Amino acid sequence: MDPKETKERMKITKQPMTEQPPKERVRNFYEVPYGYSEEAAMLEAKRCILCKNPLCIGGCPVNIDIPWFIRLIAEGKFIEAARKIKETNGLPAVCGRVCPQEDQCEKVCVIGKKGQPVSIGRLERFAADYEREHGEVTIPEIPKWTGKKAAVVGAGPAGLTVAGDLVKKGHKVTVFEALHTAGGVLMYGIPEFRLPKKIVQSEVDYLKKMGVEIVCNAVIGKLDTIDELLANGYDAVFIGTGAGLPVFMNIPGENLIGVYSANEYLTRLNLMRAYQFPEYDTPILNGKKVVVVGGGNTAMDSARTALRLCPEEVTIVYRRSKEEMPARIEETHHGEEEGLKFKLLTNPIRFIGNEEGKLTAVECIKMELGEPDESGRRRPMPIKGSEFKIDCDVAVMAIGNGANPLIPHTTPDLKVNKWGNIIVNQDTGKTNKKGVLSGGDIVRGGATVILAMGDGRRAANAIHEYLETGVW
Ligand SMILES: Cc1cc2nc3c(=O)[nH]c(=O)nc-3n(C[C@H](O)[C@H](O)[C@H](O)COP(=O)(O)OP(=O)(O)OC[C@H]3O[C@@H](n4cnc5c(N)ncnc54)[C@H](O)[C@@H]3O)c2cc1C
Ligand code: SF4
Repeated sequence: MDPKETKERMKITKQPMTEQPPKERVRNFYEVPYGYSEEAAMLEAKRCILCKNPLCIGGCPVNIDIPWFIRLIAEGKFIEAARKIKETNGLPAVCGRVCPQEDQCEKVCVIGKKGQPVSIGRLERFAADYEREHGEVTIPEIPKWTGKKAAVVGAGPAGLTVAGDLVKKGHKVTVFEALHTAGGVLMYGIPEFRLPKKIVQSEVDYLKKMGVEIVCNAVIGKLDTIDELLANGYDAVFIGTGAGLPVFMNIPGENLIGVYSANEYLTRLNLMRAYQFPEYDTPILNGKKVVVVGGGNTAMDSARTALRLCPEEVTIVYRRSKEEMPARIEETHHGEEEGLKFKLLTNPIRFIGNEEGKLTAVECIKMELGEPDESGRRRPMPIKGSEFKIDCDVAVMAIGNGANPLIPHTTPDLKVNKWGNIIVNQDTGKTNKKGVLSGGDIVRGGATVILAMGDGRRAANAIHEYLETGVW
């Protein structure tokens, strides 16, 4: 690009994305941002100066050819842009919405050095939505069956990526999912107002159209074990069961009525549609005053979901300061706009209930930050004598999730670490068991959608090689 055009492009300001106003959206579950119009997308795409050495590609865990797809958008070739992204990312409409771009591709975008980086995530979302909404999704040609079969356990982003990649190479794939619907956290965890379920469903339908068989309500470890799958005709098994085991603080009162794990709280609301009870079967305690403990995406999703159930007050209690909060900046910003309250540098020490066993308050202690711990973040330390109470009738524990122990328990020769995460070769996803691979949160212990997908891609390549050569 000649220097004159580069200069012109650098004068274009970042295009805003229109959103539902906070007062309105806090009373519904519809998606918050509306997405770019065609004009806004083309203008935003023109902010990219098509670097010769595009750092953004290296910032993306699945190495999407970012300048190429952005150039196609700038030229108005939206469908072509979506197809370019799909060469390396099977779930662009999802990733465009939930990836932490501020820590990945946008963090290293050269335009960001002097101003706002190119909105790569928003452009990814635009291209994927355009393709879906204009009915132009094409199914790639599937090669003749190789005669090999693979089983995938868990239909989250890791498992779905493996399945998509393997059918495209001509293998038969069956995905076994414990819940009644596929999608993993994308379906049961991340709320509708952040990721509409119809988008996840259309990505799942796309895989089915390519020939992936998905069997729901199939808990592996109960129905069949991993060894039984291998004995029953599957040549390889991928384990992508995620980190769905709720974690509590082990403080008094966690068994009171009104104290939920974020996992249960979000599953009831997202998957079971408890906010539409009694139209749907599953109830939820709405609560007048809700406290959410934690500072990550799960805490933010729980708190913003609680706000939409119309309580008087929703408070996030987090033991570090705002700078250390792991939640995406956009989510924290949206939460603040919607009226979330924050009690930072604060930790719960016990839940208090009434004679009926119902939650009435949480006792907390103030914290201060000491020296950095093994995560590199400053360690929070309690301040003696600073205890105080917050009234609440619902509390949601969103302090992380553990590895689901069912598969390791029923596959005793599978190697796991002290937290129960499956140990794999990081380049291939191979476990210590022949023919068995793994990736995503069950290996990483709670990470991101795109990292789970990257693991899925690596494992699919390793499975393909194994199925082709027979060499483990
Ligand atoms: C509330 C919440 C919000 C998040 N927000 C973001 C975000 O904004 N951006 C981001 O990048 N990441 C986010 N994450 C993290 C991200 O969702 C996960 O890292 C990702 O989903 C992991 O993918 P996975 O395929 O490994 O596992 P999962 O998505 O957990 O899927 C695992 C699947 O396996 C199934 N399963 C489990 N055991 C069995 C069994 N024995 N048999 C059969 N099936 C089984 C489960 O039912 C589930 O469907 C969030 C997580 C949560 C909980
Ligand atoms: S680093 Fe930024 S400007 Fe350069 S190619 Fe990537 S998106 Fe475009």
